[in-house]
Amino acid sequence: MSSYDVDLFVIGAGSGGVAASRRAAAGGARVALCEAVGVGGTCVLRGCVPKKLLVYGTQVRDELSDAREYGWDIPSAELSWPRLMAKKEQELRRLNGVYLQLLEKSGVRLVVGRGRLLDAHRVAVGEEQFSARHVLIATGGAPIRPDIPGAALGLTSDEALSLPTRPKRLLIVGAGYIGVELAGVFSGAGAEVTLLARGGEVLPWFDKELSRSLGEELRTRGMDVRFHSQVVALEAGPGGTRVATLAGGERLETDAVLFAVGRRPNTDGLGLEAAGITVDQAGAIPVDERFCTAAPSIYAVGDVTNRVNLTPVAIAEGRAVAEALFHQQTRRVAHENVPTAVFSQPPIGTVGLTEEAARARHGEEGVVVYSAQFRPMRHTITGRATRVLMKVVVEKASQRVLGMHMIGADSPEIIQSLAVAMTCGVTKPQLDATLAVHPTLAEEFVLMREPRKHSAS
Ligand code: FAD
Repeated sequence: MSSYDVDLFVIGAGSGGVAASRRAAAGGARVALCEAVGVGGTCVLRGCVPKKLLVYGTQVRDELSDAREYGWDIPSAELSWPRLMAKKEQELRRLNGVYLQLLEKSGVRLVVGRGRLLDAHRVAVGEEQFSARHVLIATGGAPIRPDIPGAALGLTSDEALSLPTRPKRLLIVGAGYIGVELAGVFSGAGAEVTLLARGGEVLPWFDKELSRSLGEELRTRGMDVRFHSQVVALEAGPGGTRVATLAGGERLETDAVLFAVGRRPNTDGLGLEAAGITVDQAGAIPVDERFCTAAPSIYAVGDVTNRVNLTPVAIAEGRAVAEALFHQQTRRVAHENVPTAVFSQPPIGTVGLTEEAARARHGEEGVVVYSAQFRPMRHTITGRATRVLMKVVVEKASQRVLGMHMIGADSPEIIQSLAVAMTCGVTKPQLDATLAVHPTLAEEFVLMREPRKHSAS
């Protein structure tokens, strides 16, 4: 019998922590899991799920307007923001309940409260203390507010996803994926949205051609997208408004300001120093390929390690730790070719290297790019000014596909399937040999024959 209270103590019941706990318990381990805010974590309560529900809820506006062009008589329709928020809350409560049940059925002991390391084998939660053979840190991350006067007057994604009333005007600072996604949500809900990008494009880490295309789409949809723009101060204005001062001195009055300027790992107050763990410059916990920290009994997965900050990655990492410790299975979690989506309106789906990254890795001449840009059939009738862009990035010598990217309706769903092909090492001749499903948008991925003559940048 072990001298420890539990075999595994997990700190944080988000995507990574819950997956690891359940998998460890399935391997016969005695598992305790502590959670400070709510079981489900960022993805379920403050991220992917509420965001996607609001995307569904607000894109109805476009669907209604398209329906009219297809001959439907629809009287004027208004969105009730409070009703949408209530429905979303109801679904989050349901999911939270499902997670609680899953943990209970797995035999994982849930401890409510903030966990803190006392040493490499002991964790305190409030007054309680637990000794553990292994500890897993899965505490995720939290949104950052910029270090400017009045920053507390702004919202972060945590509050924006639960706003009781929809602001008439919204200024979004930051054009990364959370900024552009929430821009689509609030614009779809009828707000006048101004989006500030620090650099010369939205989504700076994505394929540049797609970023440019999304920037244009957002403008076409009536958003005020400004590049090379930053807020340097925020003040309260009359009647609950906010006044933002931009770097050039311009003052913008708005009803709410949302900071979407990045996230930082949740490592403050975790007691890492008591276990001999030092965080990196970003506040993240360094780990090796087995997710082991500087303390051999302590592991870390997910956003707290600040590598690929996505739910499926946190889940895969959590399961890999549990499988290595309690199932005698070693599973490598690849951080290459991670498919991802941006649920902007229109959405983006992407897997593999961007054109820029491929050219940097394989040389200007070592890469060929196939791309297609066209008006989707659906909008020949609606007249909506939106275009689909699809790209296949190929290594010239081997003809191996290095990246596939798309902006347009259903692109996240399409890219998920293409990611399977990428994982199997698909080549351009294999794409060419695949028959199309006609008429679809996706068929274009197997129909592009002529490489583009020049680079996109
Ligand atoms: P989390 O899910 O953040 O869980 C960490 C948990 O630890 C939290 O519940 C927290 O309360 C708890 N905790 C922290 N410190 C302590 C402590 N000391 N003691 C006890 N508990 C503690 N990813 C996608 O793949 N697709 C998307 O569409 C997507 N959309 C997103 C939208 C938004 C607005 C945001 C913010 C994120 C989104 N993400 C998305 C990212 C995704 O949510 C994260 O990558 C994922 O949740 C990380 O899982 P995790 O287990 O590492 O951490």
